[in-house]
Amino acid sequence: MHQRVLVIGGGITGLAAAHHLLSEHPEYAVTLVERDTRLGGKILTVEQDGYVIEGGPDSMLGVKPRSVGLSREIGLGDRLISPSEANRRSFVLRRGKLHRIPEGLTGLVPTKLGPIARSGLISPRGKARMLGDYLRRPAPGVADESLASFMTRRLGDEVYTNLIEPLMAGIYAGDGRALSLEATFPQLREAERQHGGLVKGVLAQRRKAEAGSGGDGAKRPGFVTYRTGLRELVDTLADRIIAQGGEIRTGVAVSLLERCQHGYRVTIDRDDGPETMRVDGIILATQAWAAAPLLEPLDHYASAALDHIPHVSNAIVALGFDDPAVADRLNGFGYVVPRTEHRPVMAMTWLSSKWAGRAPEGKALIRAFVGRAGQQEILQCPDDTLVDVVRKELTEVLGITAKPEIARIFHWDGGMPQYTMGHRERVAALETALGGISGVAVAGNMFRGVGLPDCIASGESAADKVVGDLAGIEAFSAASAGHVPA
Ligand SMILES: Cc1cc2nc3c(=O)[nH]c(=O)nc-3n(C[C@H](O)[C@H](O)[C@H](O)COP(=O)(O)OP(=O)(O)OC[C@H]3O[C@@H](n4cnc5c(N)ncnc54)[C@H](O)[C@@H]3O)c2cc1C
Repeated sequence: MHQRVLVIGGGITGLAAAHHLLSEHPEYAVTLVERDTRLGGKILTVEQDGYVIEGGPDSMLGVKPRSVGLSREIGLGDRLISPSEANRRSFVLRRGKLHRIPEGLTGLVPTKLGPIARSGLISPRGKARMLGDYLRRPAPGVADESLASFMTRRLGDEVYTNLIEPLMAGIYAGDGRALSLEATFPQLREAERQHGGLVKGVLAQRRKAEAGSGGDGAKRPGFVTYRTGLRELVDTLADRIIAQGGEIRTGVAVSLLERCQHGYRVTIDRDDGPETMRVDGIILATQAWAAAPLLEPLDHYASAALDHIPHVSNAIVALGFDDPAVADRLNGFGYVVPRTEHRPVMAMTWLSSKWAGRAPEGKALIRAFVGRAGQQEILQCPDDTLVDVVRKELTEVLGITAKPEIARIFHWDGGMPQYTMGHRERVAALETALGGISGVAVAGNMFRGVGLPDCIASGESAADKVVGDLAGIEAFSAASAGHVPA
């Protein structure tokens, strides 16, 4: 009898999990169930009047193996694009002025002294303090510390506040004073431990990575996306799941998971009433807070561990301008804003300058990121107010007063997990508990990375866990029935 596996959640994690299962085990019966009427979860590419608007993520890190790797496997290698070389510059907004982010950042860490020395973002005193990293010894025996504590200790308060904090917030929308270094950037602690200094260590790690990848000097892709947006990834994965014999159901939600004599009984809520199905394996690829109540009947500890992962909400405000003067003004990829500026917009991406094909010729598309940890009140504003807030920001920062011809607002409630202090321990407890639920796996952005490549890798390894469990159960049943010699 074919094994039946249910994947809950049709975001990138669930799609990657279902695709991986079917690619490795075409004999499995795989059903993916998504609550929403569309697939993609936070990947939401909208086309309107010739604009290509990303309401969630706008790109993914190409150096992480599963972004380009999966794209090539599913025939999308040629569809990948890189950001515009001509506009390759980003800024930090500090005291109302845009400062170019110094070149030579490796991860979050400035590793080239020349650009930092020339930058107006850091005072001479702050630059001198940063150089102290070369002399300062590693902190002995510190188990974990916050990102803010580590960066301030190594590079000084100013470099952290004006440069590292806003860049980090662009990834996690978080508060560096609460985020765990070990859970967010473990390689930085390792750099300090192994090499006695952060900058020295990061440079050594980079040399090693380059040597390990062939040392051919080839340029690895930074951020990448697809010609017509991230939707290409979602659509292609969905097509392949169907072509491999999988089933995809949208607009229906799983409401209950229970053990039954052989496997699990699943209740699915439909408009015309609940439906139950029996499955052998389950991959929960929902948000952590959506997976927690579903896991409760199977394992209280796993459910509680998921429930304890805090999340922040955000919104994206996208504006399109039919004004060549606006397009001319956007000469870069955008900017990030330090928390200490107390401004409502956390980051602004100038999408039409960053990527080809995002706005019709002569038009411009920007998007603003609002709602970081500790600044969540703004998300209660009506959409019109959010548009006004972003227009005011554009006027103050860039002198843009033009009226947008389109405005789209995307809300992500509980959209971003926060890897706060203790996160690694929570994940370890979760994984121990999950190890005891045979045939069930949890995957997504709540474990070891919020980026799309991390989610892909998480979905694929959840699929492997379920396959391993099911193979074990099958071997055990066969042996118990006397089909396999002991
Ligand atoms: C505004 C924003 C910008 C971002 N920018 C980037 C970026 O540029 N690059 C990057 O790499 N990452 C970025 N991220 C992070 C990245 O988008 C997410 O971590 C990733 O998309 C999460 O994917 P997922 O499949 O794990 O979860 P989701 O996309 O949240 O999908 C989970 C799905 O499960 C479904 N679901 C929940 N409960 C049930 C149920 N009971 N039954 C059925 N279905 C259910 C939900 O409807 C949802 O579709 C960004 C995130 C946000 C919010």
